[in-house]
Amino acid sequence: MYDIIIIGGGPAGLTAALYALRAEKSVLVLEKMGLGGQIALTDRVENFPGIAEISGFDFAEALSGQVKSLGGEIKYENVVEIRPGKEKIVVTPKNEYTAKSVIIATGVKNRLIGAEGEEKLIGRGISYCAVCDGSFYRGKTVAVIGGGNTALQDAEYLSQIATKVYLIHRRSEFRAEERLVRKLKTLENVEFLLNTTVERFCGDQKLSGLDLISTSDGKTRHIDLDGAFVAVGKVPQNEGFKGLVSLSDGGYVVAGEDCLTSVEGIFAAGDCRIKDVRQLTTAVGDGSVAALAASKYIDEKFA
Ligand code: NAP
Repeated sequence: MYDIIIIGGGPAGLTAALYALRAEKSVLVLEKMGLGGQIALTDRVENFPGIAEISGFDFAEALSGQVKSLGGEIKYENVVEIRPGKEKIVVTPKNEYTAKSVIIATGVKNRLIGAEGEEKLIGRGISYCAVCDGSFYRGKTVAVIGGGNTALQDAEYLSQIATKVYLIHRRSEFRAEERLVRKLKTLENVEFLLNTTVERFCGDQKLSGLDLISTSDGKTRHIDLDGAFVAVGKVPQNEGFKGLVSLSDGGYVVAGEDCLTSVEGIFAAGDCRIKDVRQLTTAVGDGSVAALAASKYIDEKFA
């Protein structure tokens, strides 16, 4: 039996592992894809205190290396169920693991726009990760859809690779930091299409363009494209925990700053829980809080 099983190997989960290992607990991290979560797919991190600039990949490598060097066990398995009780059973398609405490740190996944043609053309000209797929579009024309920090950072990144980048946003104001908006406006190969939504992703086997509609006057237009990068936010990945811990209407785990869920001994950390600010700093903050809370719970309940 492990002391703590952590579900998710992003910044919250790995920080929880780091703190739990330093508290001399046995730890298993279960990650379904790759370590680092969303941050591993981020081009540059410039707002982590004490580090002026680092690539998201390097940050994820350093953090996972820290966990491994402390003896943290990491397995690549998808958790499909947690059975509650004093000893919790964590179920994956291959195995069942037992732990005294569980930390849910499952993060978020990409939101789809839901426009016609989107699902069909994913991976055929539609991408949700500029850092992963941007290099396929050297010298080509691409669009980024969204008005948050991710969309603006993606557009800036792609402007260094593609010949032309359209930034398509449904409003005229941005959710993104003003600094990013200002920078993007200085780039000659970036064209802003504001008050505009995507009605259709066109193309049969491969994306060929977008049918757009203006939210201000309803006018439609078509643009030809080689690639479209969708960056319209994230949704939580907590479906497997429905009926176990309380979830909000949006599917986030209901847990406060103390990371306590509705079930004793199960904690939630990072982007997967309800919170106002989803940042690398808040994710790692949660990871440390959840690990210390889980350690205290174990010391009290299993003494
Ligand atoms: P976000 O901030 O939620 O922005 C999503 C954007 O997509 C919004 O502009 C939204 O438009 C638009 N949108 C949502 N649904 C849409 C739809 N169906 N059709 C068209 N547009 C749609 O998401 P994010 O940019 O992925 O960022 C997520 C979190 O990570 C945020 O807290 C962000 O600050 C953080 N983050 C931080 C950094 C950084 O600090 N440098 C970098 C990346 C991300 P409206 O504005 O009209 O709602």
